[in-house]
Amino acid sequence: LKAPAAIFGAGRVNAAGFDLNDEATLARIAAARSGVQVEAKALTVRPASGTDAPITNPATGEVIGLGIEVDAASVTRAIEDARLWDAPPAERAAVLRRAAELYEENFGPIFATLTREAGKTLGDAVGELREAVDFLRYYAAEGEAANGSARGIIAAISPWNFPLAIFTGQIAAALMAGNAVLAKPAETTPQIATLGVRLLHQAGVPQAALQLLPGRGAVVGTALASDQRIKGVVFTGSTATARTIAQNMAEHLDPGTPLIAETGGLNAMIVDSTALPEQAVRDIVASAFRSAGQRCSALRCLYVQEDIAPHLIEMIKGAMDQQVVGDPWFLSTDIGPVIDPRAQAGIADYLSAKRSSILHQLDVPGQGSFIAPTLLKVNGIEEMDREIFGPVLHVATFKGKNLPRVVEAINAKGFGLTFGLHTRIDTRVQEISEAIKVGNIYVNRNQIGAVVGSQPFGGEGLSGTGPKAGGPLYLARFFAPEVVAEVT
Ligand code: GLU
Repeated sequence: LKAPAAIFGAGRVNAAGFDLNDEATLARIAAARSGVQVEAKALTVRPASGTDAPITNPATGEVIGLGIEVDAASVTRAIEDARLWDAPPAERAAVLRRAAELYEENFGPIFATLTREAGKTLGDAVGELREAVDFLRYYAAEGEAANGSARGIIAAISPWNFPLAIFTGQIAAALMAGNAVLAKPAETTPQIATLGVRLLHQAGVPQAALQLLPGRGAVVGTALASDQRIKGVVFTGSTATARTIAQNMAEHLDPGTPLIAETGGLNAMIVDSTALPEQAVRDIVASAFRSAGQRCSALRCLYVQEDIAPHLIEMIKGAMDQQVVGDPWFLSTDIGPVIDPRAQAGIADYLSAKRSSILHQLDVPGQGSFIAPTLLKVNGIEEMDREIFGPVLHVATFKGKNLPRVVEAINAKGFGLTFGLHTRIDTRVQEISEAIKVGNIYVNRNQIGAVVGSQPFGGEGLSGTGPKAGGPLYLARFFAPEVVAEVT
């Protein structure tokens, strides 16, 4: 594979006209919001069977549509019908680029669906569409000159927190290598997945090369990961689910079938006493609370050097108070709901067990799956036994001389996704970047929102297998490792 042909980064989609200050753009989004109802369907070669499943708006609790959860027989039929996409690479790339254009043109229904079905703020929805489009263009550029054989049928199992971007990225990479893809979206976000697959088909991806199988992980995911005809699985979600998938694959699939997994994180940030406080606070709040903390890259445990801690913590509380929590549809909203009542209940239980450690907490709307953004005191990351996937930030303090111990404690958790550092000591940047074991290190900035092409994203240890999404090594995993030797 050649080096990235082009880097598409921040601003690429905005440049195409997603200016949320623009009245005409807003009018189109509003029209889509009231008028468009994206159906959630199984998009398979033969009709799928299964049970009806209601789709809920997490901000209001309202049922906004009816989807289908397919049964195991539908998965088997889709596997039988799947066909490799055998068009030449340049043609596949052209189709993915056409899909990118269609995604951009359809921003109205995409933003409406992301805000309504996934509880994304409008700002997050813009970022998500941009990332999805970036993935399409990036893998098209990477793959058009790559020679390689497809592996076969790839199962793509994606999460609800980036239900368009990660969903599209997995599919685009697998398709660009000429594979057939069976895509299983998250249970809570089948509408946006249906819209994405429709646009990919409309762009020219053959139906037998990309089928959509909405449904339960325990049914669809298990059926896919246990069928020997599957030649690769790409998964983003929890570490526990990745283990289950790996077990099923080990038992039923060919040995060595790749599992490309991006999983959880217990991400930390260190702020030392040389940091610029205003900058650090802005980045802390964005890293911990944007997307309601529902990013695997989000900041969970903040370490502040003792001498600046009282001041910095007061500033964090003040900045939290500025955050607007509410219906993600409004432009003024910074923090929307968590994905569903089950997630809400799990986080609420955690917070009630930690009641005595709460330093600060915001108010939230009475209805919908909201969690009050919360700042909790901890002694260190050692105390944290799991990833809390919501707007909950833990803060600890450290003495300068104990900095190496802090780094050890972070590494000892075994996760390795993102890490943030705020300091103005150059040698410290060097030392800590070398010592810390994570996939993505962010210095003097926030630690979310990796940009396709320039910031390949993915972790190590309990956080995933690599290779990093949106980077030059990713696509290679979707090709079969073959060598042709010919005597002439
Ligand atoms: N790539 C996203 C980011 O950098 C996070 C992806 C995820 O949450 O799975 O914020």
